[in-house]
Amino acid sequence: MTRRTVRPEKLDLDSPGRRDYWLALEHDSIWGDHLIPLTVFVGPKAKDGEGLVAFGSNHGNEYEGPVAIKHLLREFKIEDVVGRIILIPVLNPAAFRAGTRESTLDDGVNLNRAFVPGAGTTPALAGITHRIAGFVREYIWPRVHVVLDLHSGGDVARFSICANYHPVDDPDLAHRIEDTARWFGTPSLMVYQNQTPGLLPSEAERLGKITVGTELGWGSAVCTDGVRYGRQGVRAAAINHGQMLGTIEPIDFHKAGTQRKLEMVDRECFTVAPFAGHYEPIIDCGNPVKAGQTVGLLHDFDHIDMDPWPAVAGVDGVVLAQAWRAPILRGQHIVVVARERA
Ligand SMILES: [Zn+2]
Repeated sequence: MTRRTVRPEKLDLDSPGRRDYWLALEHDSIWGDHLIPLTVFVGPKAKDGEGLVAFGSNHGNEYEGPVAIKHLLREFKIEDVVGRIILIPVLNPAAFRAGTRESTLDDGVNLNRAFVPGAGTTPALAGITHRIAGFVREYIWPRVHVVLDLHSGGDVARFSICANYHPVDDPDLAHRIEDTARWFGTPSLMVYQNQTPGLLPSEAERLGKITVGTELGWGSAVCTDGVRYGRQGVRAAAINHGQMLGTIEPIDFHKAGTQRKLEMVDRECFTVAPFAGHYEPIIDCGNPVKAGQTVGLLHDFDHIDMDPWPAVAGVDGVVLAQAWRAPILRGQHIVVVARERA
């Protein structure tokens, strides 16, 4: 297998067959390129504007998605592909090389805040991270209707492992999104607030695409279950949305019918740290709690004789996420409790 290094305008995402690329986007500083691994499978019935894309490493220190998609590069066979499948295990090689959420060795930008007007096209927004967003806009969006963006908690948060999506107005699209999310097999489905600007999934949703994200683990590690859920979710979406032949069975919490649909669309769900300190969880993610119940304790080691500050649940629900690293920032959302929905 040869992997060709090409500039975006030389990519062929439309002719039948499998092609493996290093997509080269110019480095901001040295004579060189950032190389994005991209594999495209185009089958005999590929349609204009239709296909599936799976992204790993939107953030550079979230590893289950890249590992899951890397496995799928070898597992997917061109003979089985009828439509179009694009696999990008490492969407942001700058952040991945740094091993950080943002592209800290380059422009310092968070790719999942970079989908803003003018990204990659106006001089003020022309660093590598905005140019990756611009590439996705120009070359990927026109060719896919299913978008899977595999995240994990990185160094920020631990989770009840979930597939996630925003509420969308179109009921038919909403149904297809929820079904695609369920097929990952995760214990939880997270329906989350859509007020953060510049998100990759928000842009895909605005374009009417079936868009699902994930939180497959945390701690800049590789979680066993998270990789399994990632592989299952991408494969299921490829088959169920008509891009690949084959059969697939539900797994785990999807199979058992015990997935919890957890909604965190309002600010009451978030507990904000009033001072920078060290966070101690008391109740693990995935457990039910009542509003006012203490989920964790925030310790102030500069005032070592003071009682710790109780981080309480804002609403009745399930602990969906909590701070992962013990040292937390003032203002950080250290506890997220989501409401359970039918
Ligand atoms: Zn992420």
